[in-house]
Amino acid sequence: MFELFENELNNLESILDRVKSTSLNFLNNLGEVPTYVSDQSAASQDLADTGIGAVGSLEVFRKHYEKLMVASPGPRYWGFVTGGATPAAIAGDWLTAVYDQNTQSTQGAGDVSAIVEKETIRLLCQLLYLPEDFNGGFVTGATMSNFTGLAVARQWAGDQSGRDISREGVSDDLVVMAATPHSSVIKSLAMLGIGSKNVLRIQTLAGREAMDLADFEQKLIDNQGRPVIVNCSAGTVNTVDFDDIQAIVALKRKYRFWLHIDAAFGGFAACVPSQRHLLEGWEHADSITIDCHKWMNVPYDSAVSLVRKEHSRLQVSTFQNSNAPYLGDPSENFSYLNFLPENSRRFRALPAWFSLTAYGRNGFESIVQHSIDRAQEFGNYIQSSEHFELLAPVRLNVVCFRLKTGPERMAVFLEKLNRRGKVFMTPTLLSGESSIRAAFVNYRTEKKDILIAIREMEEVMQVL
Ligand SMILES: *Cc1c(COP(=O)(O)O)cnc(C)c1O
Repeated sequence: MFELFENELNNLESILDRVKSTSLNFLNNLGEVPTYVSDQSAASQDLADTGIGAVGSLEVFRKHYEKLMVASPGPRYWGFVTGGATPAAIAGDWLTAVYDQNTQSTQGAGDVSAIVEKETIRLLCQLLYLPEDFNGGFVTGATMSNFTGLAVARQWAGDQSGRDISREGVSDDLVVMAATPHSSVIKSLAMLGIGSKNVLRIQTLAGREAMDLADFEQKLIDNQGRPVIVNCSAGTVNTVDFDDIQAIVALKRKYRFWLHIDAAFGGFAACVPSQRHLLEGWEHADSITIDCHKWMNVPYDSAVSLVRKEHSRLQVSTFQNSNAPYLGDPSENFSYLNFLPENSRRFRALPAWFSLTAYGRNGFESIVQHSIDRAQEFGNYIQSSEHFELLAPVRLNVVCFRLKTGPERMAVFLEKLNRRGKVFMTPTLLSGESSIRAAFVNYRTEKKDILIAIREMEEVMQVL
């Protein structure tokens, strides 16, 4: 063995000890770590002939790059929909690198970590009150999960007229409908060759992001005879609006279509009894997207794709890795290789398994309920403020608001606020209007963090 590697292996304990203390230093001080870095200059050096080992690299990293690490897993990072990382999830993620499995098959292929992945999916479905009707697998994010679900939907659409799209290519008779699809759905359509502009937009209800069911039904009638894929939002990123799943499922009984539910973060509303109605009927979906790195507080990158088991044949014909036609029952000798876009995959289920096992139903109920409470508190402040106003009622865990004095000053306000590094929010467009979003998904966010943010906002307004 090359001498450096021999030394590294002999020093493993001290390497991991230093990683541990670096980790503790960051995690125990997350509340003070800035949510924004203004000095984004980082040292750059050419590749050396002789490396400096793991401990040396850690020192160089700390010197040059650690300052670039923002408190995105901290309590006041409210931009996008950014989850934190619970201790159990971090433990699972650390061990994922240690075990370094290539998770594919549940039997026979040497590595059988897929058994744990399937078990994790089973636990997650129990948490979300979903039946065991779905094949589930871990992918990198909701974007890939939307891609996976929509890829099988595309295969299904071709199958309606006897066309094997994975072999013969896309036909243009399929129709995709959505009211307020996430940008990643549009991106998926681009990647799938369906085309990002080929979404038939269903009208939304007045003042809402949810679909107008009368318009939806009319569009179903107009497109009878063509294979239809419907993307349902549960919920939207700006106002956490939910399409009416029960009504959509009722229409699905009348008109045939593929129902894909993008429940990237909104799916976790099922954890709280008072919100579960938002997802009622979602067990009838053909495919569902769930993000784990958002409300589940598992570190990046982690999401789950669920596709009904009755579509196994279509899923395998979409993703099978060999050119040989798939033989036999795909649920026997199950291999993720034939069910998901990636071939080699890390043991991505492990952080989620640790979280589900460590915190159980009550733990996730508390994360979701706490986020909803924080959003309400922050929403109440916005509503009573002389400077700001809500752009939509606070439906769940996102507060969407604007400055009363107009969009230009709002952009300056947000820039100044974010640069102070105490709280981070992101701009968005809601029905073409610029606004600011604050999304609450982190288990660490407490009432005192809302107060800190309010103080920051008031101070920025004084100097604006
Ligand atoms: C975040 C999000 C996505 C995209 O998820 P990534 O994890 O960033 O790939 C898709 N849909 C919804 C509703 C989301 O909130």
